[in-house]
Amino acid sequence: MTFDELGLAQPLLRAIREQGYDTPTPIQQQAIPAVLAGGDLLAGAQTGTGKTAGFTLPLLHRLASSHPVKDSKGRWAIRALILTPTRELAAQVEESVRNYGKHLKLSSMVMFGGVGMGPQIDRLKRGVDILVATPGRLLDHHQQGTLDLSRVEFFVLDEADRMLDMGFVHDIKKVLAVLPKQKQSLLFSATFSDEIKALAERLLNQPRVIEV
Ligand code: AMP
Repeated sequence: MTFDELGLAQPLLRAIREQGYDTPTPIQQQAIPAVLAGGDLLAGAQTGTGKTAGFTLPLLHRLASSHPVKDSKGRWAIRALILTPTRELAAQVEESVRNYGKHLKLSSMVMFGGVGMGPQIDRLKRGVDILVATPGRLLDHHQQGTLDLSRVEFFVLDEADRMLDMGFVHDIKKVLAVLPKQKQSLLFSATFSDEIKALAERLLNQPRVIEV
């Protein structure tokens, strides 16, 4: 199978070629068409399987082909939220978003704690399509009223098992509570404990299940 057969837009195929990828990995072969089709997804995949491109590429495709919307303050609204357990992973995922999306006109931002809120607030004011964040700082901004999540159409929980191991279950539930009900959600996890299954049941609506 080639990337061309997966139904991705030309600007994405160009970025993939420039990246030097020939063949989609097994998770990408399954996740990309599933996400493009529009439903929720529960994916079992370890780091190193190409899972990041597996959700980033179809997400960028869907965002590029839907219309941007404005938030309550008249700014371009956040349409995709990707939550990760650590700052390092958030930075890596946002770099992938920028890299694969370099021929599209979409803007992304990475947000995590341990740095000042001020520059993040300024960045938010300029408009963000895709936000990659760790849960704590995301909630700080939301509680301060500096972050509007009411227009989120796509939600990704990356490395969900690690998030639970790190004690983020309450934070995740708080985030879920402020996201719109109507959205496409993707949950990636290396393992499927009972806790992950319970979270998946709460978050996902008749998900496609893929495991590699
Ligand atoms: P991930 O599992 O998302 O952390 O990706 C692991 C590594 O695989 C990253 O360095 C990617 O750049 C690389 N990668 C992702 N997809 C492909 C592909 N289809 N062909 C070759 N390398 C890839």
